[in-house]
Amino acid sequence: MATITLTCDSSTIQKMQKHYQANLLNSAPYTVFVAKTANARISAYQSGKVVFQGPHAEKEAAKWGNEIASKSHSTLPEGFDTWSVIGSDEVGNGSYFGPLVVAAAYVEKSKIPELQALGVKDSKMLNDEKMKRIAPKIKRIIPYQLLIVSPQKYNAVQPHYNATTMKSVLHNQALALLEEKIQPAQPQAILIDQFATKERFLKDTKNEVRHPQTPIYTITKGEQYHIAVAAASILARVTFLEQLEQLGDSIQEVLPSGAGANVDEVAAHIINQYGIDTLARLAKMHFANTEKAIKLQKKS
Ligand code: MN
Repeated sequence: MATITLTCDSSTIQKMQKHYQANLLNSAPYTVFVAKTANARISAYQSGKVVFQGPHAEKEAAKWGNEIASKSHSTLPEGFDTWSVIGSDEVGNGSYFGPLVVAAAYVEKSKIPELQALGVKDSKMLNDEKMKRIAPKIKRIIPYQLLIVSPQKYNAVQPHYNATTMKSVLHNQALALLEEKIQPAQPQAILIDQFATKERFLKDTKNEVRHPQTPIYTITKGEQYHIAVAAASILARVTFLEQLEQLGDSIQEVLPSGAGANVDEVAAHIINQYGIDTLARLAKMHFANTEKAIKLQKKS
């Protein structure tokens, strides 16, 4: 009888539990769940170990192989944070108003201390004001590439692209352009702040003309693993905010970021004052906010 042990994160274990819902047994001490299928008995432990035992344990465990391979946490090589790395991140994907911005930033290892001194570390810990102050300094220290997809452009492209594919193509382009820009420098790696698995990214971009030549890693919370991702994240965020401000200035309004109820109200006001075509120059129209704004505007 074969025994296979996998180490999984809690989200994978949750997924497994759901998958084996119809096969659950009473759970044993220290387990999250125990299940039994025709292939094997599956015991998922609180430690993250999942043990498959039975005549076809291997077959049952293999079902989860891809799931686990696609979780790239802890797959970065030892000492990765000290390498010369191109990082990339995007901002604006969840905001109704404003563009989608993708940034790539190259941090050669000798520049790491300088960026650290600026306070570029975990970019998620910085507020917008602080980011606005340090972005120009980052730009003076390291090479970077920004891609800005205006709402107008976004609305033209969006119906033909899946949202993830759009991001993959943009990251790919920013990375390839930056690689060209920094030649003959040889980064040791690319780290993409993960929005999809690496397999998905490669699939999405296989027909693209340009491809980065540097080994690619993807990881969630990438800014914690290399300062290049933190730098890219700050540059993308600040560029997004600048663009949002400019778009607002063009109609003397302040455009909020995000996709909450306040956004619906501003959008309804814009439809009232300037018409829906103006809104389409400022906002990502496929968001549910458009419908809500139209309803609000009719009521007023
Ligand atoms: Mn990100």
